[in-house]
Amino acid sequence: MHDPDCLFCKIARGQIPSRKVHEDDEFFAFHDIRPAAPIHFLIIPKRHVASMAQVTDEHAPMLGRMLTLAPRLALQEGCNPYPDGGFRLVVNTGTEGGQEVHHLHLHVLGGPRPWARG
Ligand code: 5GP
Ligand code: ZN
Repeated sequence: MHDPDCLFCKIARGQIPSRKVHEDDEFFAFHDIRPAAPIHFLIIPKRHVASMAQVTDEHAPMLGRMLTLAPRLALQEGCNPYPDGGFRLVVNTGTEGGQEVHHLHLHVLGGPRPWARG
């Protein structure tokens, strides 16, 4: 269910403070500590999954709900509407994929350009 040594499990359980964006039974969303864009937050499943490399058919409904949550939270957090606004969704996976924290997370980035990175 959760990994006691995992940073994002601890954040989801409130054991490490974060700037919360959203919480429901299944997901926790919070602002990235090192934002790469004017708006940058992460959506995580509360249930520990290490990365996209571990997902199976069993995770498909959760992944669908996570993707569906992203546009709603993006607008809530101030991303401008599509098509002139919009947002970027990123899931880094593994070392070569640029993943630093091994608890599945969806980056949601947006806001006026230029952005700090990428
Ligand atoms: P990754 O590189 O694994 O895709 O992304 C991990 C993200 O988590 C990075 O953008 C990093 O800034 C963010 N991060 C790492 N540690 C913390 C933390 O303790 N709190 C918050 N809010 N974000 C963190
Ligand atoms: Zn975890």
